[in-house]
Amino acid sequence: MSHHWGYGPHNGPEHWHKDFPIAKSNRQSPVDIDTKAAAHDPALKPLTVSYERAASKRILNNGHAFNVEFDDSQDTAVLKGGPLADTYRLVQFHFHWGSSDGQGSEHRVDQKKYAAELHLVHWNTKYPDFGTAVKQPDGLAVLGVFLKVGDAKPGLQKVIDALACIKTKGKSAAFPGFDPCGLLPGSLDYWTYPGSLTTPPLLECVTWIVLREPISVSSEQVGFPTAGGPGAGAVESADLVSSWCSGRGAVCAEKPCAMTFMPKVTRVRTLLSSLTADEGERAWQKPLNSVHAASVAGGRDRPLAITAFRKLSFNKEGEAEEPMVDNWRPPQPLHGRQVRASFQ
Ligand SMILES: [Zn+2]
Repeated sequence: MSHHWGYGPHNGPEHWHKDFPIAKSNRQSPVDIDTKAAAHDPALKPLTVSYERAASKRILNNGHAFNVEFDDSQDTAVLKGGPLADTYRLVQFHFHWGSSDGQGSEHRVDQKKYAAELHLVHWNTKYPDFGTAVKQPDGLAVLGVFLKVGDAKPGLQKVIDALACIKTKGKSAAFPGFDPCGLLPGSLDYWTYPGSLTTPPLLECVTWIVLREPISVSSEQVGFPTAGGPGAGAVESADLVSSWCSGRGAVCAEKPCAMTFMPKVTRVRTLLSSLTADEGERAWQKPLNSVHAASVAGGRDRPLAITAFRKLSFNKEGEAEEPMVDNWRPPQPLHGRQVRASFQ
């Protein structure tokens, strides 16, 4: 490979096997789930997802996606039951998404692609740590959740609001107090099969548990606002930006991230200036989407069109702009593996 792996024409999934020959092995992920071939296995137990005491720590742009990381030093957030014989600890979650709503998921269901896919990554506590677990065939359990565009998912909003702080590769922000329960659908019916990481090093250590029911995110919700709205170009102080960020549950790790955040603040302040002082104070306390909904209802502003995930960048700050889109690997051959269903 000419440079580090990625999702572009010169370093994308078709090239990964050159540095990671396991890419062509027989237990690779993702896969297309053929629902007719996925037999119901009555021996599969219900899943037990215990996230009530989850302790999120940080949100990080790693140049391939963004990770929300958890404290995994104790059994605070665990997955067990289902196809799993052991207890698995939540270490991070991330998403894969497309350049348009018609693609973005890694797994497919009868060849259907979803707009995005959430991966909640857990490691088997019978091993001492994540790094040891990924070298074992039963080392990880990844819970996959499809995203489609529809109603808003309020549980996702804090994540969306934090993305402005981590636009480019290597940026991170403190991200405490996030509840991953808010990302799950109503039903925990699932398909399961043995597979791999879907990014290099593509290790074959994953018990995949893919939920049948997708979650919905609103089209408005998939984005944070961009520059160009009314008032764009006004100058805001970095302090103001930081206080907005922390008010949204994200503390920017570095001052420069304020620059990427400026258009949002500019825009909201423009909106606020068109409200009365009282309205403005209340609006400041609300999630941005509420502010937006109010602004649209009042005919004061334009709709938000851009998706937040797609406003992130693969590149580092100061490098040529490469929008973080289509960070998904296509389905891999099953090579005789059986996908089992927990439901009839
Ligand atoms: Zn993933």
